[in-house]
Amino acid sequence: MNKPLENSKLVDPFNRQITYLRLSVTDRCDLRCTYCMPEKMTFLNKKEVLTFEEMHKLCSGFIHLGIKKIRITGGEPLVRKGIMNFFEMLNPYLSHQLEELTLTTNGTQLHKYADQLYATGVRRINVSLDTLNPKKFEHVTRIGKLHDVLKGIEAAQDANLKIKINCVALKDINDDEIDNFLKWCIKNNFDLTFIETMPMGDIGNETRLNHFLSLDELKKNISSKFELEDISFSSGGPAKYSKIKGSIIKLGFITPLSHNFCSSCNRIRVDATGVLHQCLGQSNSLDFRKILRDPGATEADLLESIRKSIKQKPEKHSFAYDFSKERVEGKIDRHMSLTGG
Ligand code: SAM
Ligand code: SF4
Repeated sequence: MNKPLENSKLVDPFNRQITYLRLSVTDRCDLRCTYCMPEKMTFLNKKEVLTFEEMHKLCSGFIHLGIKKIRITGGEPLVRKGIMNFFEMLNPYLSHQLEELTLTTNGTQLHKYADQLYATGVRRINVSLDTLNPKKFEHVTRIGKLHDVLKGIEAAQDANLKIKINCVALKDINDDEIDNFLKWCIKNNFDLTFIETMPMGDIGNETRLNHFLSLDELKKNISSKFELEDISFSSGGPAKYSKIKGSIIKLGFITPLSHNFCSSCNRIRVDATGVLHQCLGQSNSLDFRKILRDPGATEADLLESIRKSIKQKPEKHSFAYDFSKERVEGKIDRHMSLTGG
């Protein structure tokens, strides 16, 4: 796909230019975070999941139409067998149209892959970590060992990967250790982004409401101990950023519930089965697996479907927690582990 296309920009009906693709390469995971999935999770069977060749073909189409950044996510991307081959397949695009190839990981397997990630052109990664307390870590992830993640983070530092930490803010779980967490990030020069829990997928018994922590509240709490200054930095995504006086790290706040972030949305998500989700918080989707597996479908058909999918992007999500009725509104049935965060 080398010919430049006329009108190759992907612009949705709300005039947002779509330049960022998040691709989930597996729904499987070696952790079972309580806000993400139930303890006994049913995973997709292998036939349903796109092969790396199919994913590569799809990425190639998206890059051709103006996608500049691809984030590999999951499930846990680093548990998929042969995952480094896939990074290698995407690497050549980095010297042409693709500006960035990144990864979101829980960090448990990072110690094995940090060097290879750097070698395939990855320069920045997001590591999800909600607590620095080993017991709490085991509680939140149900089975994880904090030590594995810290070992992975160290390997990533040694490999010169820039690390951003993603932390889901959880009332009565990690709200009492935010000061320490921040100090740890400052010491290690890790940017840190807080996320509000979103009502996605069945997690066994819905406890997200009990642990929902508004980031307005969290920010107020942080401001009482650290001097914060809001900055206009934008990663093109939903986070609003602040700086902490005396440090160089950026502090991000992703607030899908307390402030709708949709007007600046520049992204689309493809899950591991090849279904494109036009919005994390809506059920609009388009199934690319059919096209990718149809021997009669041409490259032009694929590109046309990509354009069509962008034209169907909804304006915004409709998540809401109704505290007065102790109810979660706008809940989406699919798990975050299918679509990727
Ligand atoms: N397994 C990898 C990880 O944990 O980084 C990548 C996939 S995970 C689904 C991506 C991000 O989604 C993580 O930062 C995780 O904390 C977040 N996440 C999962 N379920 C969530 C939920 N219900 N609400 C908000 N964030 C969630
Ligand atoms: Fe796995 Fe990531 Fe979900 Fe945790 S948040 S269970 S690490 S996919």
